[in-house]
Amino acid sequence: KRFAVKEFPDGVSAGDNVIVVVGNSVGAGLAKINSAQFAGAPQDTEILRIRDIGFGALTPSEKKANYGDVVKANLPHLKAMEARAVAELRQNAQRYNLPITISFSGGKDSLAALGVLKEALGRFEAIYVNTGLEFPDTVQFVRDFCAKRNVPLKIAEAGDAFWQNVDSFGPPAKDFRWCCKVCKLAPMTDIIQKNYPRGTFTVDGKRRYESFLRSGIEPVERNPFVPGQVSIFPIRDWRSIEVWLYIRWKGFEYNRLYDEDFERIGCWLCPSVLESEFNHLAKVHPDLYARWTKYLHKWAQKQGRPREFVEHGFWRWKALPPKMLEIAKKMNLDLRAKAHHAPTSLKLIKGLSPCTPGRFSIESILTVDSERPFDAVAAVAPMLGKANYAEDLGVIRISRNDGINISIFASGHIVVNGADRQKVGRVFRETVNAVARAYLCTGCGICVKACPKRAITVVKSPRVLESKSPESRESKESGGGAAQAGGAQPSVALKIDSALCTQCGKCNQGCVIVRYADKLTKEIE
Ligand code: SF4
Ligand code: SF4
Repeated sequence: KRFAVKEFPDGVSAGDNVIVVVGNSVGAGLAKINSAQFAGAPQDTEILRIRDIGFGALTPSEKKANYGDVVKANLPHLKAMEARAVAELRQNAQRYNLPITISFSGGKDSLAALGVLKEALGRFEAIYVNTGLEFPDTVQFVRDFCAKRNVPLKIAEAGDAFWQNVDSFGPPAKDFRWCCKVCKLAPMTDIIQKNYPRGTFTVDGKRRYESFLRSGIEPVERNPFVPGQVSIFPIRDWRSIEVWLYIRWKGFEYNRLYDEDFERIGCWLCPSVLESEFNHLAKVHPDLYARWTKYLHKWAQKQGRPREFVEHGFWRWKALPPKMLEIAKKMNLDLRAKAHHAPTSLKLIKGLSPCTPGRFSIESILTVDSERPFDAVAAVAPMLGKANYAEDLGVIRISRNDGINISIFASGHIVVNGADRQKVGRVFRETVNAVARAYLCTGCGICVKACPKRAITVVKSPRVLESKSPESRESKESGGGAAQAGGAQPSVALKIDSALCTQCGKCNQGCVIVRYADKLTKEIE
């Protein structure tokens, strides 16, 4: 519905969030022009876009309010929220009878949770995980706050774990966050096992409204990967505005980065932050921004990807979402990585993903010395589940009836995730086996006979694929990889018929490549 805009105040710039008044109703909107353009704007100009409007419920106030006024007006509500959280904490602390800790990140949510804990129990210790990618401001804030408020602080240091692994796994992406386990979960596990042998009752500031994934947080959870740690989420139902009002009410000092327009305080190179926040890093910490963008450009260049891959933030996804694909198409960009060959190897990180509650995942990179195209993997993917191959993106997504999801990327990355740890591990091994078979199959035909459904075809041609790269040649000469007998790879096409395959796995028995791939996964374990 379109409305005529009657008044447009001074001092508004295009892109500003504005309060919109329509009759007796008030809502929120986004200015599309500057104040100076309003008077002479042609009739069909879009002046503002209404985001949300509450009909009849609210009336605009003429009074200008500051934070103090808002806190005062909401004090009964804030007190009631705090009382509920305090009661829950006291009750559960008594029930578990473990040393009390708070997971203090230096962000607003853990600050509010700390406030509630202080009210409820008084004595506790704070644990801070320094991922090695923290804003210096955050590290300082955590130290200063705890010192000033007499909160004993333990810091779990990840050191340079990120930089030690980034060459193997590549830049983390929204859909490939190997870094959470390496830089968060591992140091957290260490510090808890060292300091709290009986376990600990940890207060955590996670909230349902933060994201869809966090919407299902339970009041109390046992961490399956940190034996003895029980986590409680006392502010899980609070909204962001309630958190801020609580902090103001308590008079807590907070991380200065919030005043620098950062919405979430976490790792400074996190692929999940808004692109605007990442660009803002260039102003606040130009040294950190320069270090990461330099790394990204070097990495993209090695992969044969264009500069725009970094400059327009495409690096933040392994599989691009539709809006990013559209942008890439408009810009006429080919963002796919060029094939790169190296001796066959497998590197993986597994565990509960601290950034994806309730899911266990394995992120890995499988490098196979093979000249075969990624299509070879797509041809065997039906043996893992219902496969969807996006050829232009170089990604195969596989969904399964047991709730496990698999993503296989042309770059060699594999992600397997699900709620059940054992199942994820088993499916991961099956995935590595399938990829290895696709790339290294010798065409022996054993699996063709083993398949009860006659779902496999193996086409072997007398043509051999010669190695193109010097590195690859070197690897073959030194005997690296399973498919190098004879010095060149035979041209074999292995194909699984999705209409016939029942994913029984019988074709793995007796396959020499599976035996080889099994060794890779066992060595890693
Ligand atoms: S048993 Fe293994 S090596 Fe032999 S044809 Fe089947 S996949 Fe290829
Ligand atoms: S043996 Fe089982 S898993 Fe393998 S192709 Fe045949 S039906 Fe599929």
